[in-house]
Amino acid sequence: MVMSHTAVASASSEAASRALAQEIAAYAERNPRSFERYSAATSVMPGGNTRTVLYYDPFPLSISRGQGCRLWDADDHEYLDFLGEFTAGVYGHSDPAIRAAIVSALDRGINLSGHTELEAALARTVCERFPSIDLVRFTNSGTEANLMALGAAAAFTGRRTFLVFHGAYHGGLLNFTSGPSQMNVPHEFLLAAYNDIDRTLQLIDSHAKDLAAILIEPMLGTGCIPADTEFLLALRRAATDSGALLIFDEVMTSRLSPGGRQQTIDVIPDMTTLGKYIGGGMSFGAFGGRHDVMQQFDPRRAGALPHAGTFNNNVVTMSAGVAGMTKVFTPAAAEALNARGDALRTRLNNMCRDHGASFQFTGIGSLMSAHATSRPINAPSDAAHGDSSIRDLFFFDMLSRGIYLARRGFIALSLPIGEAEVDRFVEAVEHFLETRRDLVACPR
Ligand code: PMP
Repeated sequence: MVMSHTAVASASSEAASRALAQEIAAYAERNPRSFERYSAATSVMPGGNTRTVLYYDPFPLSISRGQGCRLWDADDHEYLDFLGEFTAGVYGHSDPAIRAAIVSALDRGINLSGHTELEAALARTVCERFPSIDLVRFTNSGTEANLMALGAAAAFTGRRTFLVFHGAYHGGLLNFTSGPSQMNVPHEFLLAAYNDIDRTLQLIDSHAKDLAAILIEPMLGTGCIPADTEFLLALRRAATDSGALLIFDEVMTSRLSPGGRQQTIDVIPDMTTLGKYIGGGMSFGAFGGRHDVMQQFDPRRAGALPHAGTFNNNVVTMSAGVAGMTKVFTPAAAEALNARGDALRTRLNNMCRDHGASFQFTGIGSLMSAHATSRPINAPSDAAHGDSSIRDLFFFDMLSRGIYLARRGFIALSLPIGEAEVDRFVEAVEHFLETRRDLVACPR
């Protein structure tokens, strides 16, 4: 009997679900202490969780400690950390230079209730690194940085509508990964199609008079889908023509070169938001940009925009940030890490192709995402063709081989990852492609 393409796909999907159920049972068996800790946490936090992205079925691992690029869980399994705190952990776990900077801040006292020279030092580093940033302000998270940037754009333009993209994530209150989240702030948002120049320009055109800003990740962090340079150039021109500000959310992508993705492709936005690793791995966010836009916050000016935040200049983050950016994640280190990532992704994709697998890794430099499909991925709708059971299976298979990554297949390299660790990762992926050959071979 010859099975139709659809019948083959559905039989393969059923087989993937069965394999996944087996792998999950083995996972639960291996991790009794993580389960105990998780169960105890459910009595004091909803679902035992305080950060949605870290939860996965049947229960998440409880991590006990980390060192360099290694992690240990509550049952004392050792993992190579290929998640790197969703990009904030670029330095690995407790880099000595950052640790020394934190201790030196503690030695001089925390919570000083005043300006210190540390925030200006970190601000100088940030302004020097990122081409679009003339002046910068600090926040405590990337979410807050984006909220402040939108507020600044509305005040500057006197307009209230923002263009954002399907599949984008700009924080817990600005989440468009599966349509607008009901937790989002109640701004007027227009949702456009990522990498679709014609439809996006039409939408901008029809709202040109009301548009305060276009907010975009130069690579979608969810699925690691890069924006085409042409697309970003078209947005740059359209923003200028309509009098709206172009804001790059480089919370994740700023690490893709010494000066962020904006520097690599030479498309300079009016404002940029930052977060993650820039505070040395401590809580951090920043928004910055053109002098005239940022001057709105100058408290010496009549009618200056307010910008509050008890911990905006906390000395631990400021000190760790200066050390991290000037001593550890130097421009040379950024180049080397991203070259390592490019080489790794090429190896992985060649291997998927050689195995005839419907599996691929998208991304740029040190950031990448696994997808259980061989279709070209230029937008979230392309990534949606991937088989989620196979991607989940990949996650649990990798855990069982001592590789830690995000369940959605997200991977972020950190500086302590060397060639030996990269080789172990490649071996684990190869093992997956071989042992799951029948499941991943089906065209998707
Ligand atoms: N923007 C992007 C592109 C992000 O990836 C994130 C965090 N994943 C944020 C904003 C929000 O940053 P935070 O989690 O620090 O609020």
